[in-house]
Amino acid sequence: MFASINKIKNTLKSMLILGCAVTALTVGEIATAQENQPNVVVIFVDDMGYGDLGTYGHPTIRTPNLNQMATEGMKWTNFYSPANVCSPSRAGLMTGRLPIRSGMQGDGEGLRVLFPFSAGGLPATEKTIAEVLKDKGYATAAVGKWHLGHLPQFLPTSQGFDSYFGIPYSNDMNQVQELTKAGYPDTFFEEPDIRKWNVPLMRDEKIVERPADQTTITKRYTEEAVKFINQKKDGPFFLYLAHNLPHVPLFASNDFLGTSDAGFYGDVIEEIDWSVGQVLGALKDNDLDDNTLVVFTSDNGPWLMFKHHGGTAGLLKDGKGTTYEGGMRVPGIFHWPGKIKPGVIHDIGSAMDILPTVAAMTNSDLPDDRIYDGVDLSPVLFEGKEGGHETIFYYRRHELMAVRYGDFKAHFMTESSYRDDNEYAVHATPYLYNLMVDPSEKYNIAADHPDVIAAIRDIATKHKASVRPVENQFNKVVDFDF
Ligand code: MG
Repeated sequence: MFASINKIKNTLKSMLILGCAVTALTVGEIATAQENQPNVVVIFVDDMGYGDLGTYGHPTIRTPNLNQMATEGMKWTNFYSPANVCSPSRAGLMTGRLPIRSGMQGDGEGLRVLFPFSAGGLPATEKTIAEVLKDKGYATAAVGKWHLGHLPQFLPTSQGFDSYFGIPYSNDMNQVQELTKAGYPDTFFEEPDIRKWNVPLMRDEKIVERPADQTTITKRYTEEAVKFINQKKDGPFFLYLAHNLPHVPLFASNDFLGTSDAGFYGDVIEEIDWSVGQVLGALKDNDLDDNTLVVFTSDNGPWLMFKHHGGTAGLLKDGKGTTYEGGMRVPGIFHWPGKIKPGVIHDIGSAMDILPTVAAMTNSDLPDDRIYDGVDLSPVLFEGKEGGHETIFYYRRHELMAVRYGDFKAHFMTESSYRDDNEYAVHATPYLYNLMVDPSEKYNIAADHPDVIAAIRDIATKHKASVRPVENQFNKVVDFDF
């Protein structure tokens, strides 16, 4: 195994202090170590929309740290979450595979995510980013929301992470009925009271607080993340920081409550932005920023049903739960000073690409007995080349609703979830949009492009044939509450 770059740096420093000749390590050895063992930080937020950050066009939410991260790094404008709701999206991120391949996708009229009464979770046969990096000697930590199974065999500590600190599922679960009966959804979340949601806060496999004090949760996740970076500064490390917010119910610490120009939701995003600044600051303080890939993205689009407590997808159509762009196109920012050439990228990317990219960066072999839907983004990130995806598949539960192929997107079915006009429709002739000129999916151009529709139908047929039936994890429940 290569010595980590920071161990090498520290060795060099002490050699210089002792007046030794620096001959033990060649420049090439240092470069190889840096090349193969960079630190990796993935910051994953919950239900934040494409339009919720200053750098993605929000007019009143201030996000100076994310704006700076985007300016110094690479901002993707065609970046997708693996799915339009929480658990499937996280399965896609962690495995580099569409969640339908791991059974982490709703089925029929069944549940669309895991719940406190779920008995399923991400199968052990799946290889997570943490397991890929663990094989290379990385220290690994998960901080925040997990939502890939809360039973011991599914927790982060069983999926390649050395440690875990967080709420194992969504922050609106374990509702305390007598406290939450005031109305749903209009007044449900208006007055934040942590006692309304009896969610557990866990350290590794143990519950350490219940209900979790959500008012300080973003702050405490941040402190935990910074502590991990400071402790593991000799690297290499993988930090997965998955905020429970801005998923409803909203909470913010006293330092941020009532401080933004964009209401409660703005307060929450601005605290997350502060958190990003703390993490990037910790990397810089430890002289690690030029040897660390940091990725910031969201698990799905904004939960529009909750109005001003949900975010915005900006100019994109609809939000969480749907297969319109607002449901799955999210901010995607990659940061690695000196390695990633700053810019705004229109190539198509996905959070499923993080695993193959990290595997390529670390010379890791992936299992060859499965299909990976993510692709290695290294050519785009590090070499200034074109790359990313030609196709994006949009699922709602087990159904392939839409397919993007290059500039075009065909909707075979549409359903505007979580809205008053929640109508499911199958289209004999798919709706077709050119997303490069019509990101809001307003102008159906199907009649002009039968050839494109035929090509996309062919892609969809081949894709469906590649999906092998597996056991569904969301339909497995236990008859008691966690
Ligand atoms: Mg979510």
